[in-house]
Order: sequence, then structure tokens, then C-alpha cells
Amino acid sequence: MEGNGERARVVVLGGGVSGLLAAWHLHQRGCEVEVWEASAAPGGWAQTLPWPGPAGEPGWLERGPQGLLVGRGSALDRLLRDLVLELRPSQPKGPRWLGKAGRRHPGPASLAGLLRAPGLSLGGKLRVLAEPFIPAGTRPEETLHAFFARRLGEGFARELLPALVAGVLAAPPERTGLEAAPRLKRLEAHGGLFLGGLRAGLEHTRVPMGGTGTLAQTLAERIGGVHPDRAARALEPLPGGRWGVHGEGLRVEAAAVVLALPAPAAASLLRPFAPGAAEELAAIPHLDLRVWHSRHPLVPGWERGLGLLVHPPEGRGLLGAVSFAADDPRGVPGLLQLRTYVGGAYPVDPALAAWPGVFHELRRWLPELRAAVQVREEACPGAFPLLEPGHGARVARVLKRLPPGLHWLGAARFGPGIQNLAEGVEAWAGTVPPAGLT
Ligand SMILES: Cc1cc2nc3c(=O)[nH]c(=O)nc-3n(C[C@H](O)[C@H](O)[C@H](O)COP(=O)(O)OP(=O)(O)OC[C@H]3O[C@@H](n4cnc5c(N)ncnc54)[C@H](O)[C@@H]3O)c2cc1C
Repeated sequence: MEGNGERARVVVLGGGVSGLLAAWHLHQRGCEVEVWEASAAPGGWAQTLPWPGPAGEPGWLERGPQGLLVGRGSALDRLLRDLVLELRPSQPKGPRWLGKAGRRHPGPASLAGLLRAPGLSLGGKLRVLAEPFIPAGTRPEETLHAFFARRLGEGFARELLPALVAGVLAAPPERTGLEAAPRLKRLEAHGGLFLGGLRAGLEHTRVPMGGTGTLAQTLAERIGGVHPDRAARALEPLPGGRWGVHGEGLRVEAAAVVLALPAPAAASLLRPFAPGAAEELAAIPHLDLRVWHSRHPLVPGWERGLGLLVHPPEGRGLLGAVSFAADDPRGVPGLLQLRTYVGGAYPVDPALAAWPGVFHELRRWLPELRAAVQVREEACPGAFPLLEPGHGARVARVLKRLPPGLHWLGAARFGPGIQNLAEGVEAWAGTVPPAGLT
């Protein structure tokens, strides 16, 4: 943000969490900032949408995250405190399962589940328990598979990791770089997954009252100057390092522009004058995910919600399912609200293209599930960037090739979790010179 004696006008393109966080930090520092959001509402993937019940009762669905994973003292923790966002205490969790070898097993994310995990030999289990004694790795580029094989053993990486990674990143661990989960490297530097995790303190899932979308709404209200239905069509380099931003019948001049857009959208704006950066951004693969939201009669024992991960080769494209707790205010009382993930980087069996096939596959793992009373599909095209091994080097090349006055933020830079974005954008904001502010 170059100094010109006036309050610097910064235009942030993209009103998803990344853009709103960028605008929030700039606004906090006295910068005049406006956000352009192409769609009708801010929030990007992190929106809570109304979905009335079968008799028109109030009810909601989460387009993206169902909750926020908050570590004590983390950037997201600081943000939530600054916003004084009212958070619901984390719900006690219902059963968590792994679908594998044709039936379900206790979820492997807990120690008890791990020790009973299918396909893991006694030696494999002992190898997992040896994790605190494994030294930190030195390879600059590593896949998630290689990282977990090194720390927890090949057995864990082969038998259990694919389902865990598919449930979070919708991609196979052999195709995903450590950049997709920046926290892992830090935990390793602090003694490993178990000890580092203990030292870092527990992370809790928190849900803002009114749903995850409340985070974006609150940010937008506090920032002011968030313009929905305003898509950036082109950028124009101006004399003095300033930038023109073109929308539909609109042109604005800015001291700096922040591209908080999915990488392909950022690439198309950059292509005319920064082809190198555009080419790198366009080369980042993005995954399409299909999410089915469904409401079913309650099932005894699942009142506190359920979680199912499916070992990817067996799901035929179905990656897992998760439900709200029965007393979650986003759901409709008396109904179990489930959401089911299909696709990502995995080939989808044509039978899973429509709800009857998805339901049939779900019942293979959840035979108690009764027919849905309501179903809604939410396609998530390009929802997740696939951060392949070596992605960090690509990010460095993009940043080097960006013309002065342009910034690029987002899940493809910092990692896809909201906590990654909060941390990345906070750190970015700390590096932006405050010049140009009165
Ligand atoms: C189904 C699903 C489940 C998820 N679950 C979790 C979870 O449990 N935990 C978690 O931490 N994260 C989760 N995520 C990931 C998280 O939601 C995203 O990483 C995050 O919301 C991305 O925010 P963003 O601002 O970087 O991008 P986006 O949300 O993609 O926002 C980009 C914005 O830019 C706008 N835009 C595009 N082109 C233009 C243009 N030319 N001009 C102006 N605006 C433009 C778009 O309309 C959009 O609003 C999930 C995502 C999905 C899809």
C-alpha cells in the first residue's frame, strides 16, 4: 500500500472468508477498504443457508464448514474474541465410524479406535505408539502419505489415512502435499503429533450461534463497504503504481488490490499483465465435491450426531457423512440432518449420481438410516484446491511474479481450513506496510 498522503483505498476482490479477513485486518489498521463480491451474499463457501423443514419449519444447512476448529491462542481464537462472536459450546459427540472391509468400525481418530482399527497388525499398532520417538523430517517436499508413513508407520498410512484425509481434503494422501495441513509440520517441530498436540493444547470445534455463516456476516457488518453482486471483470495498471478495477459499468482506482479469489479466477484477472503468475495459479488443480443434505427420522443412539468416514476404494466415490446433533438449532426438531460427501479427487460410480444411489450406498454403512423426508444437493464446483507436493514452491513463484500493489490470498495459499486462512491472513496483514494511511 504505497503512501500518497491520502487514506489508501484498497479494493479486496472476493467476499469469502479470506477476503473478509483481509478487509477486517486492513480496516482495523485504519485503511479505507472495500470488498467486491461477485455473488449475492458474502461468505463464499462458509455460508449458512435457510432450508425450511418439510412443513415449512425454520431450518438451515451449512454450505461449507459445519463448525470452526479453534485452538487456544490461535489467530482464529483472537479473531473470534475481537468480534465478540457468540459461540455455542461444543456439542458432545455421537458415534464416529470408519467404513472399511464392508462394515463399520470405531473411528480411528481416537486412541481406542486406533487400537481396534481394521487392517492394522499388532506391529502396526505398536509402530503408531512409537510416534513420539520419531525425529522430525528434513525433506522439503513430502506427501501426506510419506509424512504419516514416517511418523506413524506404513500400516497406518495405508489402512487408515486415506479415509481420514478424504474426509477432510477430499483427496488421496499420496497426491496431497504437507502444505494442505500446515499444522502438521509445526506439531512435528514441537515433538511430534502426540506430544506437539499436547503442547499446543486441544482444539475445539465451535459453532457461532446462527451457524458458521455468522462469521462472514459479522465481519461484513463490522467492515462496512462489502458490495455483493459486484464481480471484478478486469484490472488495469495505472501510473504511480495504482490500479484500476473494472466491474460491470463501474471503475474504481486503488492504491492496492487484494485478490482473495479462487486461483482460477485470480489467474484470469492477472493474465494480461502478469502471465507468469497467472500460469502458476491456473495450474493449481481444483476439486469438485458434491454434498447431499438430507433429513431422516431420528435414529436412537445418534441424538448427539454421527460421523462416518469411508475407506475410499470401498465408497465408490462416497467419502463419508456427518450429522448435526438432534438439538442443533440449525436442524429441524425431530429429524436427523445428515450431509454426505461424494467425489473430490475420487472417481464416482455412476450409480451415485442421484440420491437413490447415494442412499443405497449410505445404507451399506448405516443400515439403521430410514428413507429421507427431504433431500437437497449442493454442488461445490472447484471447492477444494488440491495442494500437491511442491505446492509451497509454486506459491513462492506466484508471489514473486505479482506486480507491486497486487496481493493474492486464499485457500490455495494458506491451506483450506478456516483456521489456516485466519492464521495466514493475519500474518500477511502484519507484513503489509501501513504507509498511505492517514
Ligand atoms: C463442503 C465444504 C466443506 C468444508 N468444510 C470445512 C471445515 O469443516 N472446516 C474448515 O476449516 N473448512 C472447510 N471448508 C473449506 C472452507 O470453507 C474454505 O476453504 C473457505 O471458505 C475458503 O474461503 P475463501 O475466501 O478463500 O474462498 P471462497 O469461499 O471460494 O470465496 C471466494 C469468493 O470470491 C468470489 N468471487 C469469485 N470471482 C470473483 C470476481 N471476479 N469478483 C468478485 N468476487 C469473486 C466468490 O463468489 C466467493 O464468494 C469446506 C469447504 C467446503 C466446500
